[in-house]
Amino acid sequence: MKTWNELTDTQPRVVPFLMRSLEKDRLSHAYIFAGESGTGKQEIALQLTKSYFCREKQGVEPCHQCVDCNRIEKGNHPDVHLVAPDGASIKKHQVEFLQKEFTYRGMESSYKVYIISEADKMTASAANSLLKFLEEPESPTMALLLTERESSLLPTVRSRSQQLSFSPLSKQLFAEKLQEHGFPRLSSLLVAEITTNLEHASQLNDGDWIAQARSVVIQLMGELYLRPNQVLLTLQDKWLPLCKEKSQQEAGLDMILFWLRDLLYIQTGKTDALVFPDQKEQYEQLALSISQKQISRHLSGVLEAKRHLNANVNYQLVMEKLLLSIQEV
Ligand SMILES: [Zn+2]
Repeated sequence: MKTWNELTDTQPRVVPFLMRSLEKDRLSHAYIFAGESGTGKQEIALQLTKSYFCREKQGVEPCHQCVDCNRIEKGNHPDVHLVAPDGASIKKHQVEFLQKEFTYRGMESSYKVYIISEADKMTASAANSLLKFLEEPESPTMALLLTERESSLLPTVRSRSQQLSFSPLSKQLFAEKLQEHGFPRLSSLLVAEITTNLEHASQLNDGDWIAQARSVVIQLMGELYLRPNQVLLTLQDKWLPLCKEKSQQEAGLDMILFWLRDLLYIQTGKTDALVFPDQKEQYEQLALSISQKQISRHLSGVLEAKRHLNANVNYQLVMEKLLLSIQEV
């Protein structure tokens, strides 16, 4: 559980703004939290809700321990409702069901909070129903509309909400976040270079793919410089079976790019920026026999391979051409 101040590191514009609104007791009826998966929309929505309901808060900091905080965290607070798409959309009956429920059970406090995930999936009638409810003065309500596709929200919703843009996390913070989600440290460093979108990161980690791909990249690149006869065999036996999907093929080329960039970092003394920090010794050995100019040429080769992949050239051909071109110089 983080404090508001810790959350400020992840969203340095949005969080201080919300803290000030809490301090001044000037929360809006509706906020749009817009940003990619993994930018902390849900976490900050829960924090804001806890700050509102917490009975033991210090300043604006919720205690994370009282009954209200606990119920909000577990998703069973009677005055807080989490709404997510039922199938492809959020339908009118989902919103109306909650409104009825609130009317029956709204005994604990007079204030209600809706946290709506993927709010862009609200049907027009669900959105209108929600807006009507938000504007009833006798039932003070706050809606937190979370979305990755702000432009798909209805104009009526956008015009009546305060819009807050969540920026992508820095690579370092994102890697830490992935570790909180159970990613091994070395995999998290690598994934954070490829994407800062949590959903994409989870796909890459699916079935331990990233850890496997990571070890094959290390093998492939080591062989390329030290035992070049092995390379095409490793490509055939280990690399190609791992890179069946286009997204995996792209990520694979990115990993080769980061591996080469690491080698360049070693040459230029930037050792704290390594994406494969456990390979430092191997890099240091290789760096003795390869010039910066050669590495730069190899990096250009990877960029060209990426262009070919995007132009739908056969992946095996792209990879063979790349590996052979690196061997040439
Ligand atoms: Zn509390």
